[in-house]
This record gives sequence, structure tokens and C-alpha cells, in this order.
Amino acid sequence: MRRDASPYTKNPGLQRINIALIAKYIRKNPGKFKTDKFTLLEIADRVLAQEIDMPRPAKLKAHMIFQMLLKPGSRIRKGVSTPCLEWRGAVRSGAPVLTTVNSMSGKRLIVDARKYILENPAKGKRRNFRSNPHSLCGNDLCVNPRHIEMRGMPHELKSGENHARAKYPDKLIRKMAHEYNAGATAKELAKKYRMVFTYVEQIMRKERRTEATEGMTIRGRFHDH
Ligand SMILES: [Zn+2]
Repeated sequence: MRRDASPYTKNPGLQRINIALIAKYIRKNPGKFKTDKFTLLEIADRVLAQEIDMPRPAKLKAHMIFQMLLKPGSRIRKGVSTPCLEWRGAVRSGAPVLTTVNSMSGKRLIVDARKYILENPAKGKRRNFRSNPHSLCGNDLCVNPRHIEMRGMPHELKSGENHARAKYPDKLIRKMAHEYNAGATAKELAKKYRMVFTYVEQIMRKERRTEATEGMTIRGRFHDH
């Protein structure tokens, strides 16, 4: 389609009208739009093709379609101060899910909608969590970002961390940090304690073993957090 052939060029207000129409169709029957099979934008494209017969408005973003799949909770649950936003898309194993496409590999993935919304805030930078979503309101279908906390580590990482802790106890990590503060380099410490150099560096940057060095100031960090 030629750019100037777009109906939105002739009538810019049509974008908003069509976005409202998409919202209406999705809200009417959210279960019909299978978020475990199609991405948010694919869902919008299906509505546009089947119901509206128009191309996708440039103003329509994935986070807007995410919002169309939510329903506000009727009461405020214990442990939170705002109403829940309940997911009306697909649910798998009791968790709200949606489909994404990895921009690098092109692979389709089904992800937890709670993690998705924390990683892709409507306003702000995209983030990456290696932890798992936990619902503070006790409502697993709630995707209100204020009700979700990322906790713990994926299992494969957890075992590695435990292993490292057993091998290098917190006491030793603190001892190393004191020596580092007194002038020893990460390279010297790695050699002395037979550790991987990058691991020592990460400890001194407070990127790893942070519970062990909590409350300690470590000199010459490469960047502060
Ligand atoms: Zn909630």
C-alpha cells in the first residue's frame, strides 16, 4: 500500500476512532482473542482485518492493547491500596500469559503477563528480570504493576548461587572486601583465594553476593547503584 493511500493520511482523526473500535471489540469478548497464540499487535490486526477492514493506525501501540485486555477489580484486596487489574486474556497453569516474539531470534514465546508489564512499562525504559513475578494482592490474574514484585531467581541460577555461597562463605567475601578496601586489587584477591577474576570484580562492584557485603562501602566501584 502506498503511504498516501492510507485512510489515516486523509483523515488523521480516524486513528483514534479505530483504536476505540478495537478496544470495544476486545473488551466485549476478550476470551476470543487468544493471547497464548497471537501477539498483542497480531490481535489488533485480526480485529482490524475482520471487523474494521482498515490498516493498523501508527498510533496504536502494544501497551494499549494490553490495557484493552484488563478489567478493574471491584474491591481493594488485603496487602495493596489500589484495585486489581484483572487479566482477561489467556491463562496457563493459573498464570496470565501472552505471546511475544524475540527480536533477535524471531522465536515466539509465551510469557507471564505480570513479568511482561514490569519489563515493558507503558512509559519508561524496557527492563529485564531474571526473577519471577509474585502477586502482592494474592490475585494471580492481576497485572497491576503496583501489585507485582519480582522475587527470587530462576531455579537453574538459584542452585549456582547456593553453590557459590557454600564454596565461598559470606565471612570470606567480607574479608576480601576489607582487603580490597585496604588496597588489594581484584586480580590479587582472585589469585589469593583461587576465584575467577570477573567474579571478584562483580563482588566489589556489588553486583554479586550483595547480602554478604550489605552495609559495607567498597572503594572505587566502577559505578554506583
Ligand atoms: Zn492486584
